[in-house]
Amino acid sequence: MEPGRQGTVRVEGLPDPEPRDGELLVQGLALGVCGTDKEIVRGEYGWAPPGRDRLVLGHESLGRVLEAPQGSGFSAGDLVAGVVRRPDPEPCGACAHAEWDMCRNGRYTERGIKEVDGYGSERWTVPPAYAVRVADHLGLAGVLTEPTSVVAKAWEQVQRVGERAWFAPERVLVTGAGPIGLLAAMIGVQRGLEVHVLDRVTDGPKPGLVEQLGATYHSEPIDKALDAVNPDVVIEGTGVPDLVFDAIAGTSSYGIVCLTGVSSRGRTVQVDGGGLNRELVLENDAIVGSVNANLRHYRAAADALAAADPDWLRGLVTTRIPLDDAPSAFDRPPGDEVKVVIALTDDLP
Ligand code: BGC
Repeated sequence: MEPGRQGTVRVEGLPDPEPRDGELLVQGLALGVCGTDKEIVRGEYGWAPPGRDRLVLGHESLGRVLEAPQGSGFSAGDLVAGVVRRPDPEPCGACAHAEWDMCRNGRYTERGIKEVDGYGSERWTVPPAYAVRVADHLGLAGVLTEPTSVVAKAWEQVQRVGERAWFAPERVLVTGAGPIGLLAAMIGVQRGLEVHVLDRVTDGPKPGLVEQLGATYHSEPIDKALDAVNPDVVIEGTGVPDLVFDAIAGTSSYGIVCLTGVSSRGRTVQVDGGGLNRELVLENDAIVGSVNANLRHYRAAADALAAADPDWLRGLVTTRIPLDDAPSAFDRPPGDEVKVVIALTDDLP
């Protein structure tokens, strides 16, 4: 893909990558597709590596280690997922502390998104420090490791913000039953919370996937759902501006809203700024934005996936696209799909 130019995505041959400096050589198995990839393909986001026009797409990876140097902690045959972000070269204080997900100067790079080739190839290399082991029994569902890392971080943020005073949340409302919302709900259930998920669809796989988790599915307007649930925590996964502001106004006292949806600019909504501010102050509410994930969140994600019902996880991967048709994965009509993956091999686990 040539970032910034719509219509430039294609499948093409490139030389095999050579592992350097203790890197793992990995056979790419599958690649998850998300809203960020679609934005890049529309020419609205993404940056090619310096000095090049084209970027290899893909940041939701699943691969099998082909070669691992001794002492790397990995062995040939391991299932792995690669980390997306790399620290900025300076590095800023956060990157210097291995918290590149919290980079302060914006000069971080991201595989498949910003200045570094992604994981959308049949062979890729990765330093062991930026790879995480995926449990064998997960098979193809291991491709959910990166999106799960994003929600593992969101949950950690909620916990840390909550711990500024006594914190014993009971109810969470997750907005959006896409992969991010469903994985956030999965972790909410694992944390012992009463989990509610709101989405506008009433059919397709989403209501059933929520119910199988032991959570409650809502498709009523958000103000009704907020009244019914009175959530201590909202994980917002849609980025839809009206939902965002309704969620902020509709939590219980000491409520925490974690925003994870990346919206487009230029959508204006009318809000009662005074009322919103008054509510936030008088209820000690908090709003936190969260993006990306560092290594501890990938490890938390790998643990959360390993502890989940593998059949439920496999139900999230609704659509597989063969590599030859990969460009079609980025402009599929909205429908009943949950996670779309590109198969990088005929022999998916
Ligand atoms: C990825 C993140 C990334 C963000 C912004 C998301 O889709 O999951 O890893 O930081 O896009 O580029």
